[in-house]
Amino acid sequence: MKNLYIDFDGVILDTLPPVYKLAKQLNLDVKTQTKEVGMLFSKIDWEELIEDSLDLNDSVNAIKKLSESGKFNISILTHVNSLKEAKAKIKFLDGITPDLTIIPVPKDISKTKMTQTVGAILVDDFSGNLKEWEEAGGIGVKFSKEKENNCKFLNITSLEELINMFD
Ligand SMILES: [Mg+2]
Repeated sequence: MKNLYIDFDGVILDTLPPVYKLAKQLNLDVKTQTKEVGMLFSKIDWEELIEDSLDLNDSVNAIKKLSESGKFNISILTHVNSLKEAKAKIKFLDGITPDLTIIPVPKDISKTKMTQTVGAILVDDFSGNLKEWEEAGGIGVKFSKEKENNCKFLNITSLEELINMFD
């Protein structure tokens, strides 16, 4: 079995567009005002945001199928800005499969510092995380809503694609 780590925001649920919309209303630049945006993230009602967010390409069912394939040890590896955010994500993920591991990662810590990476797969929508992961000996898989041209990583638009991608 391969160790498979799956990001949450932008891979399982499309949580970011409403946050970015709110940032825009507050005249915050998500690219440069990272501290202010971090504050915004920590103030959000995550239970409400998760309830209002769409799952990406049937991700919840895809995780069930990945589990049933017997090919992967699956963990969710997700950056969080607050314990409230972590709790809301844990609540959402509870019971999807009986064997799911959930690892909340403080926002300013690299995902590579939270677990072993060598030979392990990380599915993430953020290339920066994938770059760090591969530098630490892991296999990066980029999740995007539409297939990307010239993607530097393996590229998927549905988590189900992983079943045939790895032995
Ligand atoms: Mg993400």
